[in-house]
Amino acid sequence: MSLLLCIGVGLWALRRYLFLLLHAEAVANQANCAGCKTYGRIELLQSDAAGDNVQVRCRKCSHVWRIDA
Ligand SMILES: [Zn+2]
Repeated sequence: MSLLLCIGVGLWALRRYLFLLLHAEAVANQANCAGCKTYGRIELLQSDAAGDNVQVRCRKCSHVWRIDA
């Protein structure tokens, strides 16, 4: 019985891990500046309470855009 529980929890954790991994990738894809194509050189301006919506600014060209999580 406890073996089944272990397998169940293990599978759930794996699913959760893969979901978070794909999610992080989708957000990371939005970290490209549309203005100068620089990746990841962003400055956080503001976010809502849940952190789902963040406004960022490129450190290189000051282009401002939103990232939706
Ligand atoms: Zn830029």
